[in-house]
Amino acid sequence: MKQSTENPTLSIIAPIYNEYDNLPELYRRVRQTMESTGETWELVLIDDGSSDGSTERIRALARQDARVRPVIFARNFGHQLAVTAGLDYSHGQAVVIIDADLQDPPELIPEMMAKWREGYEVVYAVRTEREGETWFKKTTAAWFYRIIYRITDVDIPRDSGDFRLLDRRVVDVLKTMRERHRFLRGMSVWVGFRQIGLPYKRAARFAGETKYPLRKMLRFASDAITGFSYFPLQLATYIGFLSAGLSTIAIPVVIILRLAGSQAFFGQATTLIAVLFLGGVQLISLGILGEYIGRLYDEAKGRPLYVTRETPDDFRSQTTEDNSQSLSQ
Ligand code: UDP
Ligand code: MG
Repeated sequence: MKQSTENPTLSIIAPIYNEYDNLPELYRRVRQTMESTGETWELVLIDDGSSDGSTERIRALARQDARVRPVIFARNFGHQLAVTAGLDYSHGQAVVIIDADLQDPPELIPEMMAKWREGYEVVYAVRTEREGETWFKKTTAAWFYRIIYRITDVDIPRDSGDFRLLDRRVVDVLKTMRERHRFLRGMSVWVGFRQIGLPYKRAARFAGETKYPLRKMLRFASDAITGFSYFPLQLATYIGFLSAGLSTIAIPVVIILRLAGSQAFFGQATTLIAVLFLGGVQLISLGILGEYIGRLYDEAKGRPLYVTRETPDDFRSQTTEDNSQSLSQ
């Protein structure tokens, strides 16, 4: 290959989960954009347990262009862990995280690099518009960002996704943060450094369907909240104080009413509602505790974050073996 892949200026990381039809277009647009900048680059493609033939397509791209570096997972570990593996295997002085479905335009990368050259260590892209997404997705996303913004301790910019440029220094810090349930866009704010937003229009998917069904979206949201906030845990305390306070007021009121001969709080219904309501609140609080304890347990087990079937180095040694075999034949 004409270009060396040793420590390029930019690494582009794209997590791939069944993106067969998007891969060639992703490669083409990344390559076109990067060639227009004249910078050295690598494209780290993480195959997150695809079953639609994406894996072979990634390998084919890597065989054809040494700047494409494949990381193949042993199974589906999820988007955030795929990106994490991308950070682990990238060498660039800066790293851009991008979705493989081309909702994030690679053409924005030169602008991000311009900001980076100005001295910003994190350049996050802010979605001003979203195309081709359902009303449900847009509304839940809008709510999600607003809630996160209010209850977390770090100021996560609204409407910014994982599409961002990170300086090597930021990547090196992120690599030491081995938490299992991760919310990378929060983590990359948490590290600090000079950060700036860059507005862009989020396009519709180039091909295929979203890989984030409601179930995954909910898990992602709870990872984000539990990872960056104790607010849900404190909620039980607040509700506890509120209901204890209310009953302290209610006790003398009821006694006085009763002495005055009122029938106001007679009957089972009142008791039943109060018991059910408080029972519900207690169960919800227990569930919230469970969310945190489950995550603690996962951390305590200390399993690896992801398992790879093949790393870029494995891939290279295989292909060089193939080459030397074909030469000796
Ligand atoms: N993705 C992944 N593993 C998963 C789910 C998604 O690697 O378990 C990748 C997917 O291939 C895409 C990116 O994460 O490159 C974003 O996913 P998607 O476009 O489905 O999310 P949406 O844009 O709908 O929120
Ligand atoms: Mg998408």
